[in-house]
This record gives sequence, C-alpha cells and structure tokens, in this order.
Amino acid sequence: MPIYIPPTEDMQYLLHDVLQVSASGIPGYEEIDRDVTAAILDEAGKLAAEVLAPLNAVGDAEGCRFENGVVRTPTGFREAYQKMRAGGWMGVDADPAHGGQGMPYLIYSATGEMFVSANMAFNMYQGLTHGAIAALDAHGSEAQKALYLPKLIDGAWSGTMNLTEPQCGTDLGLIRTRAEPQGDGSYAVTGTKIWISSGEHDLTENIVHLVLARAPGGPAGTKGLSLFLVPKFLPDAEGRPGARNAVSCAGLESKMGIHGNATCVMSYDGATGFLVGEERGGMRAMFTMMNEARLGVGMQGLAQASVAYQNARAWARERLQGRALSGPANPDGPADPILVHPDVRRNLMHQKSFVEGARAFVFWGSELIDRAHRTKDADAEALISLLTPVIKGFLTDRGFETTVLAQQTLGGTGYTRAAGLEQFVRDARITMIYEGTNGIQALDLVGRKLGQDGGKAMMAFFETVKAVLRDGEGDAELKSDFLDPLKAALKDLNDAVMYFMAEGMKAPANALAGSHDFLHLFGHVCLGLMWARMARASRAALEAGDGNPDFHVAKLATGRYYMSRHLPATGLHLARIRSGAESVMGLAPERF
Ligand SMILES: Cc1cc2nc3c(=O)[nH]c(=O)nc-3n(C[C@H](O)[C@H](O)[C@H](O)COP(=O)(O)OP(=O)(O)OC[C@H]3O[C@@H](n4cnc5c(N)ncnc54)[C@H](O)[C@@H]3O)c2cc1C
Repeated sequence: MPIYIPPTEDMQYLLHDVLQVSASGIPGYEEIDRDVTAAILDEAGKLAAEVLAPLNAVGDAEGCRFENGVVRTPTGFREAYQKMRAGGWMGVDADPAHGGQGMPYLIYSATGEMFVSANMAFNMYQGLTHGAIAALDAHGSEAQKALYLPKLIDGAWSGTMNLTEPQCGTDLGLIRTRAEPQGDGSYAVTGTKIWISSGEHDLTENIVHLVLARAPGGPAGTKGLSLFLVPKFLPDAEGRPGARNAVSCAGLESKMGIHGNATCVMSYDGATGFLVGEERGGMRAMFTMMNEARLGVGMQGLAQASVAYQNARAWARERLQGRALSGPANPDGPADPILVHPDVRRNLMHQKSFVEGARAFVFWGSELIDRAHRTKDADAEALISLLTPVIKGFLTDRGFETTVLAQQTLGGTGYTRAAGLEQFVRDARITMIYEGTNGIQALDLVGRKLGQDGGKAMMAFFETVKAVLRDGEGDAELKSDFLDPLKAALKDLNDAVMYFMAEGMKAPANALAGSHDFLHLFGHVCLGLMWARMARASRAALEAGDGNPDFHVAKLATGRYYMSRHLPATGLHLARIRSGAESVMGLAPERF
C-alpha cells in the first residue's frame, strides 16, 4: 500500500519562515502563530494519513455504485466523512456568523493539500461544497444564506456545480437547460447536466445543486445565463430536508481515475430552483465558484505530485539494483539502493524541487486571496486573478508529469496495481481537464488577464520579482545561485509579453499559438520566484542558527536544482512563442 507522510515541517516553514504570516498585517493572521498552526496541521495530517489515505485504494477498487437511482460511495467513505465533519474541517475558513471557524483561506489550503494527497476522490465531496459556500456567500440573498450556509458549512448538506451539458463543455454559451418562472418567486428547471462531480451520493442528508440555466427572454450565449439553487430535498418550514425535488441522477460515468467520486448525469425535470443573484448574472456568480475551484484544482496537481514523490523516494531507498559508480554504498547487500544512481537522483530531484516550489506557490496564492478579501487590497485581487490560470494550468500539467516521473522511479512496480503509483497518475489526469481545460486556462491568461486594466497586474508581478531581486543583491551566493537565474527567466517572460504586445494586435493567432508556452514560461518564473524567496529564508535561518540546519541545507540544494534544471525551460518556451502561428496553423485542415 502507498505511504503518506503529512508534510507539516515544510508547511510550517512556508508559513513562518518564508511568508512570515504573523507579521503580514493581514487581519486574522496574527492569530495563526507557530504553535497554533502546528496543532492544526498535526490534526489535519492525522486525519489524512490515518483515516483518508487507507481508503484511497479502496475507493479506487470499488468505485461508486448506482442502484435504483441511489449512489453508494465506497466502503468506509461514510464513516470518514463523519470524522471530517466532526473535526470542523469543511468550514475551517467559513464565516463564523454561519457556523464557520473564520480562519484564513491559507489554512484551508494547507489542510486541504493533505486531504487531497491522502484521498483526492473523497475530498472532492467537500471541495465542491466549499465552492458552493463561496458562491452563496458572495451572491445569495440573506434568506438563502441563513437557510443553506450553516448546513453546508457543517457538512450536513453538500454542494455541486452544474455547468456541463452533452453539447456544451468549454462553450457555456451553448447551455440549453431552461428555468421557467413559476409565479411564486421560484423557477422550474429542466434539462440534462453531465459529468457532475458529487452529483448524487449517500454521505449527506441533502445536496444543493448550483445550476446554470436560461430564464425566458434573455439573449443567446453566456449573457442569457442565470444561476439557480436546486436542492435535492426542498427545505421544510424548519429548514429540514422536506419534499423530494424533481432532480435525479440518471447514471454514473465509468472513468479513468477518481473512482471514489461520483461523476453523475443529472436530470432536471421541472425541478424547483431559486435564483442566486440577478437574472442573467449567472456567469458572474458561477465565476466565484469556478475561480475558487481553479485554485483548488491547481492544489490537487501539487497534492498528487507530493504523495507520488513520497512513494518514489521510499522506493529508491529500498530497491537494490546495481552498484554506485563510486564503489558499493551497501557492501553487505547484494546491490546498492537505486538512490545512488545519478539518473534516479535526477528524477527524484525533478519531482522534489517541483513539489516544494509548487507548495510555496499555492501558499502564496492563498495568502493573496486572504489579503484581497480581508484588507480589500485591489492589487492583491488583480495579482491573484492574473495568477489563477497559472496556478491551475501549470501546477496540474507539471503535477501530472511528476506523478509519471514518480511511477518511473518504481520501474515495473510503478506500472502494476499493488504499489498504488498508477492510481496517482490516473487520479491526477483529470486535473488538466476539468474546471476549464489547461488550453482554456492559457487562453484566459493571454487573451484576457494579461492585458486587463492596461496590463496593471502583469506590471505588479514584474515589480514583485524585481523587489526580491533587489533585496537579495548583497548576498553573493544567493545572487549567483538563485537571483541571476531568476533575472534571466524574468527577461524571457518580459520578452514574451513584448512579443504579444507587438504581434497580438496585428495577428491574434500569433499570441494564441503561444499561449500554452506562455503559461508554462510564467509558471516557471513563479516557481523560480518561490525558490528565491525560500533560499533567502533558509540562508537567513542558517546564519541565525534557527531551526534544523539539515532542513535548510536540503532546501537550498533542492532550490539550486530547480534554478539550474527546471528554470532554463523559459528559453525554450520563449523560442516557441516567437516562432508565431505559422508552423501551428500552416497545415491545411484536410492534411491532419
Ligand atoms: C471526471 C469529471 C468531472 C467533472 N466535473 C464537473 C462538474 O462537477 N461540473 C461541471 O459542470 N462539469 C464537470 N466536468 C466537465 C469538465 O469541466 C469539462 O469536461 C471541461 O470543461 C471541458 O469540456 P469538454 O469536455 O466538453 O471539452 P470541449 O469543450 O469539447 O473541448 C475539447 C478540446 O478542445 C479544446 N477547446 C475547446 N474550445 C476551445 C477554444 N475556444 N480554444 C482553444 N481550445 C478549445 C479544449 O481545450 C479541449 O482540449 C467534469 C468532467 C469530468 C471528466
């Protein structure tokens, strides 16, 4: 069975040495000192490692069952869900006015990473609920908030997000689901939604579906969409699940991974729905849920990479094959552990340096969300909006790749079922597809976010990196190993932006043909920035004699690998971007 070791030491380091949360000035952060976060992370880590991780393979092998319209989750999921509920983990960052704990989103993110590493399919039941809470909190009426939020935050009820239909995936303007006013303030919702995660299950007493649909009289396309709340059971006068609503699960998808999560076809047959926000304001309201979900999916990429790497590392220490070039490292054994071989080391360093950089990036992104929400800082809001497609697209593309690299470390064992590595690969694959495919994330980044407000957010990002470059200038070793490579990568990013500015207007295809490479170029610069910040923190800790010196020495070595082996990819991405659209679009369609 695969192992899972909660990375709490690394998380504590990021929170307190790198981000220095207590001194950040963000309201609420002063309460999360080292002791508090140690206690929270330990508790979450225990739940992840002891309860959720052992159910991961069970969920994969059993999957969900569809019996007479009812969906049964795998053995043990119901009990685990109650434990998660009892711990209050679902509402950890929710509004205390509705029963939440009011902690920063950063804490939700850190604990969430452990839950997802341990069991991604299971955690999706509460992940979707978290998104529904955010959407209702931002756009629901006071009555809707009072009725639904306490149940969702407590985990007694769960939430879903219904966009996709058979004829409509990326292009939401094609949605056909209709919502007819019933004269009493409610609507009758009719249509079919497909691939709805957690659409039906046996974990909660009620399920709250948030559904994009068309009310009469609106324009075609996305502008005519509104958001509706459709409960599985209509709440009675006391707010308890009452009459069964006309929404049902018509079947489950058979799929590559996340077998423990129910992916449902949902039929709405004149189901009673309630408008959330304004009529034809559906996209705006749904974007609250989608943006949050995109960050969560980026974190899923990191989380699967992290647990896959842990298992690769453990295997490389145990598996005996061949001898070290420098002479036997295990003279009493028949062979040396494969960890001695430079190519195995390269593979593990590639994984480790990505995972730790990615975790820092997710934590920084979460801090920006807290800063934006808690201090109404418009710059932080603009920056996280710019970085959201990068977090989603880069961390899931590279996260999936990391699970494959980890599988490679185990050789044939990685390909067979027992070691569990192939499940991480299968589970991670969906992260590149849902919540907007990674192609669409790149399009959003280049086509929309880059030029928003005259490129203000992009300029803020450049300033953020330049400040880190300036601050560390006096430290020669930091400069040569971390800041100089970061400066070179930043120049590649700047050259790519300049290329888009010069070419994008003349020939938009030149910009769009480079969008995938731009997202990856940008992602590498972000992780380079994270490594520069971590290197600075670790060098300061070593100088001050703080903490565990082995930890900081390892951090610096891992960072040097990222700067010298991952980061030069920015040059390749820039060269591809500059080659424009000709080689991409030149072939006649019939020649494919
Ligand atoms: C397991 C699973 C769970 C899911 N959960 C949910 C859920 O809970 N709720 C929900 O509503 N949906 C859910 N989905 C649906 C998911 O979000 C969609 O699959 C995804 O948005 C892509 O839509 P599509 O599959 O129809 O692909 P399409 O839109 O048909 O795209 C096909 C390909 O074309 C590309 N493409 C499309 N349009 C463009 C364009 N304009 N420019 C460039 N490239 C383009 C895409 O990048 C993609 O590679 C889930 C899907 C799966 C498989």
